[in-house]
Amino acid sequence: MSNTNGVKYAAIQRHDLGVIICKECNTVIGTLPTNGYKKFYGHCNSAACLEKKKAVDNQK
Ligand SMILES: [Zn+2]
Repeated sequence: MSNTNGVKYAAIQRHDLGVIICKECNTVIGTLPTNGYKKFYGHCNSAACLEKKKAVDNQK
């Protein structure tokens, strides 16, 4: 019997305080090693969010 929980928790324990959040669905896309807690906004790879991003770009 193998236990993979250790791997999962090791990833969470990295001290990346900056988080990248999708503007559309608020999914955390990734983390950044920043000095203090910071939020960055971007777009995730979901088709629905990319469509919205495209629509906004076309309005410019
Ligand atoms: Zn999204």
